[in-house]
Amino acid sequence: MGSLNYHRPKTIKETLALMEKGVPLAGGTALTPHRYDVDAVIDLQDLKLDELKVGKSEIQIGATVKLQALIKAQGELPQALAQACRQEAALNIRNIATIGGAVMTGDGRSPLLTALLALDASVITEPGNSSEPLQKLLKTRDGMRKSRLIIALEMVRPNRMNYEQVSRSPADRPLVCLAVTEYLTSKGKSHVIAALGGYGERPIRLTKMEEALEKGASLADAAALAQKAYNDAGDAFASAAYRAEIAGILARRLLTEVKG
Ligand SMILES: Cc1cc2nc3c(=O)[nH]c(=O)nc-3n(C[C@H](O)[C@H](O)[C@H](O)COP(=O)(O)OP(=O)(O)OC[C@H]3O[C@@H](n4cnc5c(N)ncnc54)[C@H](O)[C@@H]3O)c2cc1C
Repeated sequence: MGSLNYHRPKTIKETLALMEKGVPLAGGTALTPHRYDVDAVIDLQDLKLDELKVGKSEIQIGATVKLQALIKAQGELPQALAQACRQEAALNIRNIATIGGAVMTGDGRSPLLTALLALDASVITEPGNSSEPLQKLLKTRDGMRKSRLIIALEMVRPNRMNYEQVSRSPADRPLVCLAVTEYLTSKGKSHVIAALGGYGERPIRLTKMEEALEKGASLADAAALAQKAYNDAGDAFASAAYRAEIAGILARRLLTEVKG
């Protein structure tokens, strides 16, 4: 068993240079069980990435903001985001785990990633100070482990947002979860974004359902598209038929609440 090198850089530039040798260490809750697979860790705690900025219309969450900090700020954040964060993990883990770590490791059963997808969150990364949709980053994140550093997540505050999940017990991770947001255009037109979780490598955006709603589909027809999205979502935890049925029920319920 080799020894593990520990680095604690003070700047982003220093961090990026060190990433050739090791991987970022945020809360360490997901990384620690794999400590024997890495040669070096780069502790992010001195980078001052733990700021939560809540504006009137925009929210920026620094990469090392702890999950519990989002719950503490729930009065300022969309209630459904704080609720999804609470469902993400137990209190002790939430006190340590960060949003950057959650973005890099969360799977399809992640309530938080589901909520962030419905908020159409963007992820700011270095080098290059680039911004890309979370939806896109979740598909490419495995390739960026040693090359890109998450700095923050940004999102626009929705007009309304709801989150619901079905799980084996109230505190368990979801078998199916759905987050729905409504944004209003400058002309007051309603625009819905929805994300479905509970299965697979990552939650998914319900793009077909969103498009159908834009074209004026009924809520029942739109919900049927949410159901269809989980037609093949079977695993050891739940059958595809069960997940699809629940996805349709949650979609009908949340769309009625958000748009009704
Ligand atoms: C007992 C226990 C229970 C858990 N339960 C759950 C659960 O119920 N649900 C769940 O989803 N997860 C769970 N986890 C996993 C873990 O807690 C979460 O995925 C957590 O959000 C990881 O955050 P972290 O800050 O601890 O990340 P770390 O462990 O520090 O890092 C995780 C990965 O992300 C990378 N990384 C971290 N920050 C950045 C950044 N800013 N830029 C680029 N890469 C970065 C690291 O290099 C590493 O590869 C559990 C873990 C434990 C130990």
